[in-house]
Amino acid sequence: MGPPGAGKGTQAEKLTELFKIPHISTGDMFRKAQKDGIELGLKAKSYMEMGQLVPDEVTIGIVRERLAEEDCKNGFLLDGFPRTVQQADALEQILNDLGTHLDAVVNIEVAKDFLVERLTGRRVCRGCGATYHVKFNAPKVEGVCDKCGAKTIIRKDDQPETVLDRLAVYHKTTEPLKAYYEK
Ligand code: ADP
Repeated sequence: MGPPGAGKGTQAEKLTELFKIPHISTGDMFRKAQKDGIELGLKAKSYMEMGQLVPDEVTIGIVRERLAEEDCKNGFLLDGFPRTVQQADALEQILNDLGTHLDAVVNIEVAKDFLVERLTGRRVCRGCGATYHVKFNAPKVEGVCDKCGAKTIIRKDDQPETVLDRLAVYHKTTEPLKAYYEK
């Protein structure tokens, strides 16, 4: 867990390589669905572009399906889910049904000023989804992905106005989950 721009995706990548478990990012799943032009992508698009959360019933449904897949049997890492108390309650139920449980919840804290700089300077590869930052982690050739050579672009929801909306949504809706899991 952590606010947008905290580095959830970056750290999740490292942990899942280390533990050889699937990296389940609801944000990546929504972005892929949009790229593939499937219905889920259409459902999520307008919310994501406005920096709002995709409705719980949609998000919970895709996580339920994903966690039931074979490759999750030996563990998994959730990135960006749950983001609401309703999602956290649903996750408990899903894990119960699968006969498993959470081992740990990792929360990444970053001061708001840094988050804005990280998000507005972020660039993502249009081909493979790799993440860069114009200042902190620039690709070797400007605008070109080191990994696959495709062009890097600015995510629509990384525009400055939308970034502030996303941080507000985080503060109001997702931050209360810290107390939920501490308890
Ligand atoms: P970040 O953490 O940088 O905002 P994500 O890729 O995790 O990036 O999320 C991007 C967007 O996808 C969110 O702003 C939201 O619209 C949608 N999204 C991702 N995960 C969820 C979730 N668990 N519940 C609702 N919406 C989500």
